[in-house]
Amino acid sequence: MEVHSGVLKASSKYFESSAQFVESQQQQQQQNNDLESKAGDGTSRYTFSVGEITRSDECFQRLVLFFYTHQPEDLGCTVKTALLYVALADFLQVSKIDIFIQVAARALKDAYVPKFPRSPVVSEPLMVRLLEQLVSDIQRAESSKCACEHCLECKKYSERQSQSILQALILPAAWVSYAHMERLSYDVLDLRVHVRRIFKGYVDRIRRERMLEKNLLRLKRGEGPTTMREALQALYASYFYTEE
Ligand SMILES: [Zn+2]
Repeated sequence: MEVHSGVLKASSKYFESSAQFVESQQQQQQQNNDLESKAGDGTSRYTFSVGEITRSDECFQRLVLFFYTHQPEDLGCTVKTALLYVALADFLQVSKIDIFIQVAARALKDAYVPKFPRSPVVSEPLMVRLLEQLVSDIQRAESSKCACEHCLECKKYSERQSQSILQALILPAAWVSYAHMERLSYDVLDLRVHVRRIFKGYVDRIRRERMLEKNLLRLKRGEGPTTMREALQALYASYFYTEE
């Protein structure tokens, strides 16, 4: 695949600095060769292996397409590729990382709980941003809904919202589980502070609908890693429904 280096450099700090490095090396070389070997058309080329950047050729190709078109739909982001894109955009220091967070949040909203896709681990701050995006999408949807609370529309809507909240609750636990598997260090207490801030307005609803309890039952039946179960307990112990 051939790409204009200008497009890559404009979209990604990673490419900007690696192209600068290669160009300065080439200049050095040309000076050493007494200016004989200057490229005929005055352009310089540099090559890189996609395999060193990501394990998904398709995502990389789509990312490059996005660099040209700036259309988020060109990423074709799915549940499976959501975190991969965020990790990739982070690694490449893409200037429009907010778009990747938004696109990934939209894709994750439809993920089946608790089978989160096995994905490369994004950094904790990025995961927190993703979580904030998920919850702010939920809040935005809430502000534009019908207010009667009784009609079929409202009932369906409420079920969908519960699913989305649960989805968002699972994300940090799934993340801890990946981080654990990848032997990365992480701070559950720090994460818990973020989680409490982000879900502040939803605690009663989470308790009332027993979202986490139901999900833990599923996890106990073997649908998902043990670490995820432990992470859910560590992150949300105070959110569990308690009979008094
Ligand atoms: Zn209604």
